[in-house]
Amino acid sequence: MNYNALDKILSHKKAVFFDMDGVIYDSMGAHADAWSKAFLHFGIDFPPEMVYYNEGRTAHSTINLVFQATEEREATDNEVESIYSKKTQLIELHPDAVPFKGVIDLMNYLKTNGYVIWVVTGSSQDKYLEALLRDFDGYVSAERIISGKDVKNGKPHPEPYLTALLKSGLSAHEVIVIENAPLGIESAKGAGIYTLAVNTGILADQVLWDAGADVVIKDLNLLVY
Ligand code: CA
Repeated sequence: MNYNALDKILSHKKAVFFDMDGVIYDSMGAHADAWSKAFLHFGIDFPPEMVYYNEGRTAHSTINLVFQATEEREATDNEVESIYSKKTQLIELHPDAVPFKGVIDLMNYLKTNGYVIWVVTGSSQDKYLEALLRDFDGYVSAERIISGKDVKNGKPHPEPYLTALLKSGLSAHEVIVIENAPLGIESAKGAGIYTLAVNTGILADQVLWDAGADVVIKDLNLLVY
């Protein structure tokens, strides 16, 4: 294995904060499809590409944003509930998300070399958080996850990454973030953290550079193998 590129990025760092969907799990295609179809069920056009642009927002924030754009008002609690439960129902039709190839090897390398691993995700569904602990047993632990349940302001607000810094006792310059989405990158950069973007989705690399990524790569395997 060739870890030269990774070692350069990690020099003087102590921890890696991973985003979950689109970085650890190959799950964004399913989320994009489910969101798009859930909105369509209520007569609202929200194409998959827009899901990728808004990836990282909490469900509540995503639904409100779409209502402001299409209806020029906030969604009611009832509308948020209905659309979100439709989305949850539709994603069940997809097979369980599988981890991207190379993530376990990367985490194993990090752990072996003394780097601390955190996961910072907008997701707050127990089902996914439990799968994360199961699939990455020995690498990811419950006390090192910041989920949608731990913050008031989701990505692109810096609060998720600032919360991870606070709870880990680390300074921004001791950490790197691995993100795949423009709003996740904005959140991490807002917290002052070096951000490696892995473009696993359908947006152009330029969108991730414009969000403030320090480096954009196509595939985590470029670091690992
Ligand atoms: Ca993501």
